[in-house]
Order: sequence, then C-alpha cells, then structure tokens
Amino acid sequence: MGKLKEEVLSYLKTQESFASGEEISKVLGVTRASVWKNIKKLQEEGYQIQASTNKGYRLVESPNIITKEELLSTLKDSTMGQSIEYYNEIESTNERAKAWAREGAVEGSLVIADSQTMGKGRLGRNWVSPSGTGIWMSLILRPDLPPTKTYQLTLLAGIAMCEAIKKHTALEAGIKWPNDIVIEGKKVCGILTEMSAEVQCIHYVVVGIGVNVNTKKLDESIPHATSLALIGNQEYSRKEIIKSFLEEFEKIYSMYHAKPSLELFLPTYKKLCITLGKQVTIIDRKEQYIALAKDINANGELVVQLEDGTLQTVLSGEVSVRGLYGYI
Ligand code: ADP
Repeated sequence: MGKLKEEVLSYLKTQESFASGEEISKVLGVTRASVWKNIKKLQEEGYQIQASTNKGYRLVESPNIITKEELLSTLKDSTMGQSIEYYNEIESTNERAKAWAREGAVEGSLVIADSQTMGKGRLGRNWVSPSGTGIWMSLILRPDLPPTKTYQLTLLAGIAMCEAIKKHTALEAGIKWPNDIVIEGKKVCGILTEMSAEVQCIHYVVVGIGVNVNTKKLDESIPHATSLALIGNQEYSRKEIIKSFLEEFEKIYSMYHAKPSLELFLPTYKKLCITLGKQVTIIDRKEQYIALAKDINANGELVVQLEDGTLQTVLSGEVSVRGLYGYI
C-alpha cells in the first residue's frame, strides 16, 4: 500500500496540471478506486491535492512533513538512511533503533518519528518531542572501532548537524561540548549516543538526534531551549535538514572510519565549539566545580584549567557542563 501511495505521489509531482483518475490508474496499472484511496491518504498526511470531477487531481503543495517514501527517494545511493522506519508516534527512537539493531538492521538504518512519548536525554533525562515540529531520529552504525572511541562519533554527528543547520537556515549554530547544538545561547539540538559492545568490539552504535525545528512555543520545562523557527522567524523543511545531515555525516563518517582519529575534524569542531574560552561549571556524579574551558584534546575530551592553575581532562558521557550563570 505504501508503495502505491508513493507511486501516485511521484506521478502527481511530474504533472504540471491535472491528471485524471483514469490516466493515473492506467499508468500505474491499478483500479481508479485504489488511486482515489491513496489520494485520500496523501491528503490526510497533509498534501494539498486539488480534486476536480472533470479534470482529476493536481498536487498543489507538499506539506512540511517527513515521509519515508520521500526521504528514501532522495537518498538513493547513500549508506546513511538506506533503510528507514517511520513512526507517527513512538516511545523512543533510540529504544526502537537498539531493538532493530539487535534484529540485524544494517549500518545506516534510520528510525524517525513525528513524536516521542518517552524521548530520552543523557543520564536518564527526558527529551521533549512533540508532534509536527521537530526531528526525532536515531541512526544505527556498526563501526569497526574500539568501543572506547564511540563517544567521538557524537562529536562528528554534532559537526554534521551544525553544517546541515547552517546550510538550510544560514543561522549561526555552535556546539556546546560535547553534544548540544546551540544558537544564540539556547539549545536547539541534543545528541544521545548509545552502544552495545564487548571489551574489544562494538555490536552496534545508535546515534539519537533531536532538533527543535518549527516549534513555536517550547515546553516550560526547558527554558534554555529554542527552535530554528523561533530564531530564524520562518519555518524550515525537516526532511531537507535530515537529508543534509545524512549526507554530511556520511562523508565525515567514512573519512573517520578510514583513519579513526579526530585529527582532521578537530579544527572544525573547535571553531564550532562555543564552550572554549568560557568559565564553566562541571557537574559530575560526585562533585561540582568551576573551571576555565581551555581546549579540546586529540581524543575529543575537554581540557579545563582549575582555579589553582592545574589542567584537567573532562570525559564526556558522565558530566554536564554549564555556564556560570545559566545553561551556556
Ligand atoms: P545536558 O547535557 O545539556 O544536560 P542532555 O543531552 O542530557 O543535556 O539532554 C537532556 C536535557 O535536555 C533535559 O534535561 C532538558 O533540560 C533538555 N531538553 C529536553 N528536551 C529538549 C528539547 N526538545 N530541546 C532542547 N532541550 C531539551
């Protein structure tokens, strides 16, 4: 069924004006009733299709929705996004991606949802994921890397998402080390990387990404958050951002995989990293302390200077970094 809907949509897209039901049914080799049924489905998804008794159907506007069919058709030869599961609503795309990976999903498989009822942040925190506005997705990777390097993929995904956002919105996106994308001091995107591994080898990695794209009013539990639309004063296409991210990430990932070192990417990461040069509060399990963020080392760890002048390395994963007077 999904396939026919996709075919009807593709056909309408190639037509400058109306296409009659009879014409579509002949071209696709199906009954007129099933053409009509699929037109109705497309309309329910938000496609504006004009229907005229005499002339047939005409696609007026494609909505700002994400569909598996459209994404797949634009990602033909890529590894990332080669297989997609799309849900209108799901508990957590990361949880589904982990289950799918255990079932054998190939590298680059992607879970996307229009809304999450139990979206996850790091350290068991909640990720607010309402419908119709954001990108909530999880990418499955099967890298041939030592498990200790997995967290570096988070930094690479951050670079790729920053580039994708910049490309589509021209907004100045930066990265709060290690994994948040911020614009004008507020969080628009978070990345949560999870893995299943043994000492020597990784079974799979799931990179979960949440982006507030067209959110007009943010949940009051996240005052330090914003959306691309709130900053840019316009709506943006979620599928275009997803597509750009996947293309960008594929490039970066294959370079990194060929030579698993951050060396090539550090200059870009540091340029994007808004944490550097700032006084920050480091919060780990046991304590909380203030330090100056000095550098990102070759492993992607944050190097901070304590008040007594000593340098210390901070690993991502178990800590949160905050500004002295707020989130940044
Ligand atoms: P951090 O390291 O900044 O604490 P996490 O990566 O752990 O952040 O993400 C979880 C946190 O992100 C939540 O505790 C909440 O403050 C925030 N958050 C939840 N949903 C959203 C959202 N849609 N947009 C921006 N921030 C969010």
